[in-house]
Amino acid sequence: MSFIDRIFPNPLPSIDDILNKYKKRNLPEGSKVTRIAPSPTGFMHIGGIYTALICERVAHQSNGVFFLRIEDTDTKREVEGATKLICSSLSNYNILPDEGIDSNGQEFGDYGPYKQSERKSIYQAFIKYMLEQGKAYPCFATTEELDELRKKQELSGARPGYYSHWAKYRNLSETQILEKLDAGIPFVIRFKSEGNYNNKIVIQDGLKGKINFPENDLDVVIMKSDGLPTYHFAHVIDDTLMGTTHVIRGDEWLSSLPLHIQLFKALGFTPPKYTHISPIQKMDGDSRRKLSKRHDPEADVRYYDSVGYPKDAVIEYLLNLANSNFEYWRRNNPSKSYKDFNLELKKLSPSGALFDFVKLNNISKEIIAKMSAEELFINSFEWAKQNDSELYLLMQQNSDYVKSILSIERTGAKNARKDIAKYSDIKEEIKYFFDDRFSISDDKISEIKDIPSSKEIVKDYIEIFNETDTNQEWFNKMLTLSSKYGFAKNAKEYKLNPSNYKGDVSSVVKIFRILLTGKTQSPDLSEIQKTMGSTRVLNRLKQIDNIIKD
Ligand code: GLU
Repeated sequence: MSFIDRIFPNPLPSIDDILNKYKKRNLPEGSKVTRIAPSPTGFMHIGGIYTALICERVAHQSNGVFFLRIEDTDTKREVEGATKLICSSLSNYNILPDEGIDSNGQEFGDYGPYKQSERKSIYQAFIKYMLEQGKAYPCFATTEELDELRKKQELSGARPGYYSHWAKYRNLSETQILEKLDAGIPFVIRFKSEGNYNNKIVIQDGLKGKINFPENDLDVVIMKSDGLPTYHFAHVIDDTLMGTTHVIRGDEWLSSLPLHIQLFKALGFTPPKYTHISPIQKMDGDSRRKLSKRHDPEADVRYYDSVGYPKDAVIEYLLNLANSNFEYWRRNNPSKSYKDFNLELKKLSPSGALFDFVKLNNISKEIIAKMSAEELFINSFEWAKQNDSELYLLMQQNSDYVKSILSIERTGAKNARKDIAKYSDIKEEIKYFFDDRFSISDDKISEIKDIPSSKEIVKDYIEIFNETDTNQEWFNKMLTLSSKYGFAKNAKEYKLNPSNYKGDVSSVVKIFRILLTGKTQSPDLSEIQKTMGSTRVLNRLKQIDNIIKD
């Protein structure tokens, strides 16, 4: 029996059968087939969603196919529930693969299985083929031998790795191999690289352009001792069989590219086009660094949900990170779906996009501003149900009141308010409408005290207060009070003759804003008054007697 049959004693599918089963995809000219191929290690980095979104857009913009493949051949790193997290994160953000696995673990599509652990016999058939062709060999190196090799290379200043004359098991005879197999010595299968490190090759990357590499000469492991392939080998087989035309992945894989290209060629396959994207970075003091799973909560895709960013805000933010012209496009196409935007790979930043909360918040505020009060209520209520029981209860017990609060400067407004970036902001924004949550801080009280005649102004206003005043009628009252108590009717008038006035109308308005909301900034005060109702408004205004005692 040959050593190859000893290694694979059980029947495996034939290469021809496999190639026949995975038919060439019948797609219109120019369609791109992309995939994301995450490993189920228990964490969904926002960078993973970023890459998935780019892959999905590139495929669907070209009427192509976007699929999901779970790369779970590294069983030691696998975390339970991780595949579900990947699938649910994708569906949560509406990045829907045409083929792959759904959130219930159900596989769909004609090019599966889409979990590498279910494709063992396919990989083994190709590994057997590589052995038959003399393009791979079993390697019996023990951990100790590999450690020793490393030390020797270090001492002699040689490049580390298993290659050329360092590759001890590369040229064993059939008899030597059989002896070792008979002795039950554990082994892996290595690729027998024909490369020469001194040769330079040029590879075209979709984003980084032409890159020079030394040719690969490493005899990398392609099948581990557990019979499963390594990522390097598995992805070559899968991307070929599944018809991937464009591999878009993180640039941590860039250095493996010469190896990958060599593996494709060794198998007689044409490599797909590769685009390596730089990770999302952030500023840390004066320097840039990758978003880190350990230090940055925003690295975890679950973060965005937990604080209540609408899904579209996250997606639009990521599109903006990918192509900075998205912002301009959105301004000119406010009501189109983001899917109408044409994402271009070559417009991605080659050095990595910078994460910026201010930008994310601005995009999110715009998106929330477009929601009707009813929609915002429903979305934030849903969010609160999962994430903030206190807010949930408050909204449930006061739903009409909260809806009318959320309507302020929203329903029918020309410029809807843009003070809410995420659903968790709502609690703070509605707090002062509830007497048991409302308070005025000492420094705000001092601000009222510092405004001349504030007590008299409030007392006067109580007399003329009318809940049904329009915004204009209310403001006219502010002007009347201003002129009565020596305040200018606007900032310009005040600045022309500051010694003639105690301030301008904004100081008068500020008294009421603080008394009613506890804040110096708020939405339209006349609308706030209407929403609060006269009893609550008058009770608050009457607090002036406690604030300023005679
Ligand atoms: N399984 C690899 C990873 O999780 C995929 C790399 C690729 O997209 O080819 O990083």
